[in-house]
Amino acid sequence: MHEDDDGTMWLATDRGVVRLRGEELRIVGSAQGLPVDTIFQVVVDTYGNFWLTSNAGVVYVRRDEMEAVADGRQQGLDYQQFAEPDGMGSAQCNGGAGPAALRAADGSIWVATAKGVSVVQPDQLPRYQLAPPPVVIEGLRVDDRNASANGNLVLPPGTRKLELDYVSLSYRTPEQIRYRYRLEGFDNGWVERNQRRNAQYTNLPPGRYRFQVSAAQRGSGWSPETASVNFEIQPRLYQRAWFLPLAGATLALFLYALYRARVSQLKSREAQLSRVVEDRTRALSEKNTELEQKNETIRKQSEIFEQLSRTDALTGLPNRRSMDETLAAAYQDAVLGDKPLCFGLLDIDHFKRINDGFSHDVGDEALRRVAKAMQEGMGRENVGRWRGDERVARWGGEEFALLFPQMDMAEALRQAEHLRQAIEAIDCSDFAPGLKITASIGVAGRTGLSHHERLVSRADQHLYDAKHAGRNRVVGG
Ligand code: GH3
Ligand code: MG
Ligand code: MG
Repeated sequence: MHEDDDGTMWLATDRGVVRLRGEELRIVGSAQGLPVDTIFQVVVDTYGNFWLTSNAGVVYVRRDEMEAVADGRQQGLDYQQFAEPDGMGSAQCNGGAGPAALRAADGSIWVATAKGVSVVQPDQLPRYQLAPPPVVIEGLRVDDRNASANGNLVLPPGTRKLELDYVSLSYRTPEQIRYRYRLEGFDNGWVERNQRRNAQYTNLPPGRYRFQVSAAQRGSGWSPETASVNFEIQPRLYQRAWFLPLAGATLALFLYALYRARVSQLKSREAQLSRVVEDRTRALSEKNTELEQKNETIRKQSEIFEQLSRTDALTGLPNRRSMDETLAAAYQDAVLGDKPLCFGLLDIDHFKRINDGFSHDVGDEALRRVAKAMQEGMGRENVGRWRGDERVARWGGEEFALLFPQMDMAEALRQAEHLRQAIEAIDCSDFAPGLKITASIGVAGRTGLSHHERLVSRADQHLYDAKHAGRNRVVGG
């Protein structure tokens, strides 16, 4: 039993140490961390610290520890235990009838044991204070295979399991050694492992780590010295810092290349299409030109046909159809312009005799000569809008038609007479010696007539009259 100056009583009981302060009673026993329950003697040294005797040696507890645990401010008690290994004759400290321990005047603690007295000199305690035990890492396994724990360890990508074994080099029993470790780069703080002597990590992310372990034994506190091993778990390809940017850049490059390829494909397709379009356009325009040329040919041909259809084949003069149109138009011009208009019919006299007396060919030639003489007689210059060669036509057989636009009867008769003389003057000696050609002409004026066809029949009537009057003459009116 010990009594402090303030009257606090510390009692040794078989349930541990009991603190009695005023009315308050607190127990520090095995439930609070004391290694034994039965305490024989409580001795307080000159520093106020506790020396407790038991049948398992002497237990030393610092005052602050004792108070903190007694107050309930702290879980677990840090103490040192001294027994035979520390020089005691016996760990059995029950002193029989007398006190099991006492403090001498010089401050030393005397403890009675089963095998003599042990003396503790608290003054000297710091000198013997147990240093925290050194610790070493004795084994390292990576994915169940042994690895060397020296220096910096580089572990391949995909490393799954890492186990570390460590041990204290203290000569104390393993039960008195506690360990704690920390993995820098993974654990936030120290992990206390009590007596466990290994650490295990699985599926650590890639990175650099430093594993540290330190030990403590009763009363020593944690060693500031640690055993450590550095290691690095290499990242997988896709876990590397440059991987994502590179992959992104590669993807972008690939997409760009794809895009360029597509564009160039489209461009070449476009070029191909435009070539096709060009070819087709050229072919079409060639076809068009060809068609135009054909059209032009057809147009010219039809012009020729048209002309042929309006021309007499034997004489080359306009035919009756042509003269019909010319007469109709000239009649209209004359009516609208209130101009005179005359029309004549010419018939070769006794033409039948030419055919019969000479030959049909001579008859043909005679017709050509008459046509030529009339064309020359009519002249080339225009009268109104009619050219000279449009004003004479072969009307049929050996009959010819004559148009006298803008001419009154006197003028028409004058021209008709001129033509008659020209025919009479034809020299046929080169093809039909002895042949004489004459012609009769009937001329009609439009005055008083309602239609151009009336002009034709009136001219025919006058021609008839000319024949009857003896032929080779001009009759008009
Ligand atoms: P007229 O003085 O009364 O007119 O007597 P004509 O003999 O001239 O009259 P007719 O009507 O009896 O005879 C016309 C002849 O002209 C009949 C025909 O054989 C001939 N003839 C008609 N066309 C042609 C032709 O193109 N060539 C030739 N050679 N003869 C033709
Ligand atoms: Mg006739
Ligand atoms: Mg005739």
